[in-house]
Amino acid sequence: MTVTASRATERAPLPLDVEAVRADFPILGRTVRDGKRLVYLDSGATSQKPRQVLDAERWFYENVNAAPHRGAHALAEEATEAYEAARATIASFIGGQPDEVVFTRNTTEAINLVAYSFSNAATAKEPDFRRYAVGQGDEIVVTEMEHHANLVPWQQLCERTGATLRWLGLTDDGRLDLSDLDTVVNERTKFVTVTQQSNILGTMPPLEPIIARAHEVGALVMVDGAQSVPHQPVDVAALDADFLVFSGHKMLGPTGVGVLWGRSEVLAAMPPFLTGGSMIEVVRMEGSTFAPPPQRFEAGVPMTAQVIGLAAACDYLTGLGMQHVLAHEEALTEYALAQLQAIPGVTVIGPVDTVARGGAISFTVEGIHPHDVGQVLDDQGIAVRVGHHCAWPVVRRYGVPATTRATFYVHTGYDDVDALVEGVRHAQRFFG
Ligand code: PLP
Repeated sequence: MTVTASRATERAPLPLDVEAVRADFPILGRTVRDGKRLVYLDSGATSQKPRQVLDAERWFYENVNAAPHRGAHALAEEATEAYEAARATIASFIGGQPDEVVFTRNTTEAINLVAYSFSNAATAKEPDFRRYAVGQGDEIVVTEMEHHANLVPWQQLCERTGATLRWLGLTDDGRLDLSDLDTVVNERTKFVTVTQQSNILGTMPPLEPIIARAHEVGALVMVDGAQSVPHQPVDVAALDADFLVFSGHKMLGPTGVGVLWGRSEVLAAMPPFLTGGSMIEVVRMEGSTFAPPPQRFEAGVPMTAQVIGLAAACDYLTGLGMQHVLAHEEALTEYALAQLQAIPGVTVIGPVDTVARGGAISFTVEGIHPHDVGQVLDDQGIAVRVGHHCAWPVVRRYGVPATTRATFYVHTGYDDVDALVEGVRHAQRFFG
């Protein structure tokens, strides 16, 4: 569906009750910049937290606080129970099994974990861990629309192992160019990694043909769900990838917790990334053996309160219904794209049809630097992100130095979009 200016005034009914949702977010009650209502359009960077998540973390610290999987006292047992129950909730949120869920600090760490693990595989003393070794002559495939978190670790892996990095490019209208998929992903490909939703373009690339092609040539596939898991139903069984990574803080959960979901047989064959306490089986002075996943990948005392907070965020989103969250953002996106495109001088960077995109809208305003647009919006209490959004190759591809980006979430309403549009017009008057 192409969004045209003639649809600019249409407002589909929103599936979520915005006022009821806003009441759950204490921070949305505050004002900024001399008493202005906070219009938070930066959930793509990090999301705000509902009371339910804050309460869950507080509950843990006030009632349980102990290190899980250590000690036999009552609190340690309860902490272990709460931590593992949270793992089960988070696994079920993405249709996975608890032992396939590894907790990391964020998406970035989850991707690094996999990239390091694979570059360690060639020299692992355990034969099982050498199954996925990467070396000279092998290829790793990324896309040109990846966040730096899903690009730099693979560049580094290639530098460490001698493998070659290849990528799928972008079309002029902000889509992933799959015309050379069968050449880029070939018999030399060991690993393919792709985002499910671009943080800058909003594009949702078609994953099915990419995953099918990768598996056809025997490569493993990772999906970067940092911008998709918070905003749409994601089911790992249907996805058929080998890894899915995402961050708690972008989906109403706490900072400091991310998730690596991996297919059990792949996780089982991977060497550890970080080593130390909790991830071992037996330790002797001469050497150590490692626990099975997920413990093998969770060295040290984990971020227990954050994991429990993330499970509360999953419960909250499940209560809203992820189909409704998706439909809510689709309606807002369609409206916002039409409204913004109706402003002379505004160019949206990314696809302008809602079927292939999520609610991250990047745009430029002719004659005004994105940082200045952001400044004027901020003066009016509107929080957006400006810059290259940690996806530098993307802004370079579209010939702009930076963009202004608005992102939506469950508490976003049409009034927020109207404030953004009026703010952009105000910036044009201010600088015009
Ligand atoms: N991948 C995408 C698509 C992102 O948007 C982000 C963050 O914006 C990341 C990865 C990295 O997430 P984090 O900073 O939580 O590790």
